[in-house]
Amino acid sequence: MRECFELRDVDAGGRIGELTVPRADVTVETPALLPVINPNLDTISPRRLAEEFGAEILITNSYIIHGTEDVREQALEEGLHDMLDFPGAIMTDSGSFQLSEYGDIDVTTEEILEFQREIGSDIGTPVDIPTPPDVSRERAAEELETTQERLEVAEGVDTGDMLVSAPVQGSTYPDLREEAGRHADATDLDVFPVGAVVPLMNDYRYDDMVDVVAASKRGLGADAPVHLFGAGHPMMFALGVAMGCDLFDSAAYALYARDDRYLTVRGTRQLEDLDYFPCSCPVCAEHSPDDLLALSDREREEELAAHNLHVTFEEIRRIKQAIRAGNLLELVEQRARAHPAMLDGYRALLDHAAQLESSDPVSKGSFFYTSHESARRPEVLRHHERLERLAVPDSLFLTEGEPARGDEFEASWRVEPPFGPFPRALSKSYPLTAEVPERTDRAALEAAAEGVARLVAANPETEVTLGHRGWPADVLEAVPEDVDLVDLTVEGD
Ligand SMILES: [Zn+2]
Repeated sequence: MRECFELRDVDAGGRIGELTVPRADVTVETPALLPVINPNLDTISPRRLAEEFGAEILITNSYIIHGTEDVREQALEEGLHDMLDFPGAIMTDSGSFQLSEYGDIDVTTEEILEFQREIGSDIGTPVDIPTPPDVSRERAAEELETTQERLEVAEGVDTGDMLVSAPVQGSTYPDLREEAGRHADATDLDVFPVGAVVPLMNDYRYDDMVDVVAASKRGLGADAPVHLFGAGHPMMFALGVAMGCDLFDSAAYALYARDDRYLTVRGTRQLEDLDYFPCSCPVCAEHSPDDLLALSDREREEELAAHNLHVTFEEIRRIKQAIRAGNLLELVEQRARAHPAMLDGYRALLDHAAQLESSDPVSKGSFFYTSHESARRPEVLRHHERLERLAVPDSLFLTEGEPARGDEFEASWRVEPPFGPFPRALSKSYPLTAEVPERTDRAALEAAAEGVARLVAANPETEVTLGHRGWPADVLEAVPEDVDLVDLTVEGD
């Protein structure tokens, strides 16, 4: 068990956890947002981040501090907490991002970790190699080896009670990511950033991002706090959390504000394109878009950054509440509608339903079938797996309608898309209490047919009859041939 991280609640792959940061003497509730602070210019002061926005943790770049002489001297003298005037936990990045942008940096892992400790960082970062997507396998493997050597070096550095992160690389190769996750998990390091996903997000490749994170998570243990490094747009937090990410950092709130870009959970808007603000944060409550446009550049940037932070923290709170209520996937489904690429991301997430199923609670408050993607949720998969273990009589009527009368069958089970068949005794148990639309869809019928097929395959001796409400012929093709079919809409009774 990792001492610094404890899980409190789970839903799908998402979790509410507590990250104990001993050096700062604070406990950070996750999922958490780490606003990025540029030590050379802050749009919103760290003190304001803590007091007005409730930020418990922030991230700043030790490489920039190291390379800027007066800032370096100040940081060494006062310590980061006093220099930034921030009461929460401070994580520092190492300059790996600069390495990926500019190709070279001039510090070693030992130097930068020792420096991070000296300036009072609470979570330090070694210099890993952020391998971009789509490079040759040789390069990805070679650079991963270097990253892994640096993690081993980091383990040997005396970092005191500073936590140290262990970045997971491996480009877009799932097996390398998984191996990287396993290797990082086996070190005695503490926090696990999934690195180099920014290029995927910049290109709206949310499906590839999901595959990369899912692979990394397979290697990492469930008790590993995972940081989706560079993911700062609130539109994708729900998806990131559902994959099992716990920490997000946002430079976006400030960078976007500089370009008059207004963040929403449904995407980014240009300030000049807005006639109304779809938000009730203090900035939007007090100003119209025209008001902001009339401000000086500096004032407008600060107001926009404040709005961007409000929506960002609001989304994190909404996600936590969704985890508590057990409806995180419903929230992901809503967010997936913001952009076709987000929908691809959600569909890719459902490709990993079996992986999510392993952490998903057996019972929750509700299952709302709100899109045809719902048919592929982990709860449906789990029900299908359970069907193979249920005791079954010699003759069985599976029906969307009334139970069979007389003694033709030993038992009648209900059939409910998307789950398929189940004994009536289970009707009141999760997820079979699901709210499903009256006007069902093809994906739900296909999933129900799959459930019938699973039940029949596990019980070849049982004589099965299926009473369905006019399922299309090609859906019925998924039902095994030896199942007798009764179309209830034709026979009626
Ligand atoms: Zn607002």
